[in-house]
Amino acid sequence: MKRTGGCQCGEVRYACTDEKFELYVCHCTTCRAQSSSAFGISYIVPATSLQITQGTPHYYEVTTDSGNRKSGAFCPTCGVRLWHMSGTEDAYRSIKGGSLDEPLDLSKAIHIWVSSKLDGVIIPDGCRQFPKEPD
Ligand SMILES: [Zn+2]
Ligand SMILES: [Zn+2]
Repeated sequence: MKRTGGCQCGEVRYACTDEKFELYVCHCTTCRAQSSSAFGISYIVPATSLQITQGTPHYYEVTTDSGNRKSGAFCPTCGVRLWHMSGTEDAYRSIKGGSLDEPLDLSKAIHIWVSSKLDGVIIPDGCRQFPKEPD
């Protein structure tokens, strides 16, 4: 089974496995700035499962709240961020959840960096949550 996704204008398209490694909602200030929204959604898949099926993304380097460097793939035309990786050696790709065609179910997502969550964002009962990165 595959999932598919892409940017807002449709120039860059990708496919990946639907067997995610993990699903995170991240409330860190970096994800907020990157998404221009309340939080980031990270759908983590093995790097080997991600295939670019159309277009050529560009890459932008950022430093995260935990001090790591990571690279973000984005569409050069509409600017939408599609996935992140910690260098080309990274075994995983962190796909930005809103770029997937089929909506994700966030009811069991793991919430991280809750210490910097915006007031008024409600985490569903039973979701695992961490003040910063998980241990
Ligand atoms: Zn685009
Ligand atoms: Zn984050």
